[in-house]
Amino acid sequence: MTSVNPDLDEILKVALRAVSDASIITRTVQTRVETIRQHTKDDRSPVTVADYAAQALIAARLNDAWGELKLVGEEDASSLRISGNASLREAVTEVTREVWDDARVDDVLDAIDLGNHDASAERYWTLDPIDGTKGFLRGGQYAVSLALIENGTVTLGVLGCPNMSSDFERPFDSPDSAGCLFYASLGNGSWTVIGDADTSTAARLTASATTDLTSMRLCESVEAGHSRLDESARIFEHLGGRGRPARLDSQCKYAVVARGQADAYLRLPTSRSYVEKIWDHAAGKIVAEEAGAITTDIRGNDLDFSKGSLLSANRGVICTSPAFHIPIIRAIGDLNLFPN
Ligand code: AMP
Ligand code: MG
Repeated sequence: MTSVNPDLDEILKVALRAVSDASIITRTVQTRVETIRQHTKDDRSPVTVADYAAQALIAARLNDAWGELKLVGEEDASSLRISGNASLREAVTEVTREVWDDARVDDVLDAIDLGNHDASAERYWTLDPIDGTKGFLRGGQYAVSLALIENGTVTLGVLGCPNMSSDFERPFDSPDSAGCLFYASLGNGSWTVIGDADTSTAARLTASATTDLTSMRLCESVEAGHSRLDESARIFEHLGGRGRPARLDSQCKYAVVARGQADAYLRLPTSRSYVEKIWDHAAGKIVAEEAGAITTDIRGNDLDFSKGSLLSANRGVICTSPAFHIPIIRAIGDLNLFPN
């Protein structure tokens, strides 16, 4: 890992440790999901417990390090504070104690609510404590996603991918408990470590240098509700692609492009009304771009992180290795997809 900015090394160290420790929490909950489900009628409960606990831990760590935290987190503690939800509060606190030994209920709720910033500051963090909830519930891929945004630019990103294998041959639906961490900062490349946050073993990531369109390897969401899988098949066919797309949940897809395991991640809008959230893309985008990949929306416009917590100037996302970007944008035009 190289950096000309000593502060950056320190920031990265804290962010990596926080994401890595939050992954201990999510792993613990994931192994218990089935057990917890047997005791609750509400399938969301186990997820919610892990989401809240991971956000609490990361927010507390960032705030302990520098104070005055500005964090745009996906979760907030308002429903946990409702008097009837005491058992949920306790459950969240209990799993948070996996790594924050002496956390009390109030500490945890307050830490979660540190994530209530409105994205109006010049410099703030954004966090999705569990991106890819459906993957998490299925026992598949998900990501703990943390990024720093400064003046509308993503300057640092960390993706904890607790079920992602370093072995490219291993199917994504066969989780590897070692997991991988991915991280990048502006101008300093994109890196990965197996398992935890020991950066002395980090390997640099490089997006694919393949130029042959017919050998294109595609990745996309598992959920048809999150991306038009039928239209990505048409784009793939139009470009002469063969084979089948890899499907996996969460920003792990950005990492898959960053490490050269796929040539393109397509996220094609399923509706006019859905607007992408910054925490679903910030960390993934910098990890992919620092590895040499290109990330834009479906029109070829840069993702605009200056609009608050939503990517309201953009539609969909296309993240590709260098040779694939223009052909895919052209194919969208040729096929007259998403005309308005
Ligand atoms: P993925 O795992 O890549 O399918 O994406 C998971 C993310 O999709 C979640 O974090 C949600 O915020 C987001 N999401 C929810 N509804 C939609 C939608 N209609 N279109 C795109 N993304 C969505
Ligand atoms: Mg998400």
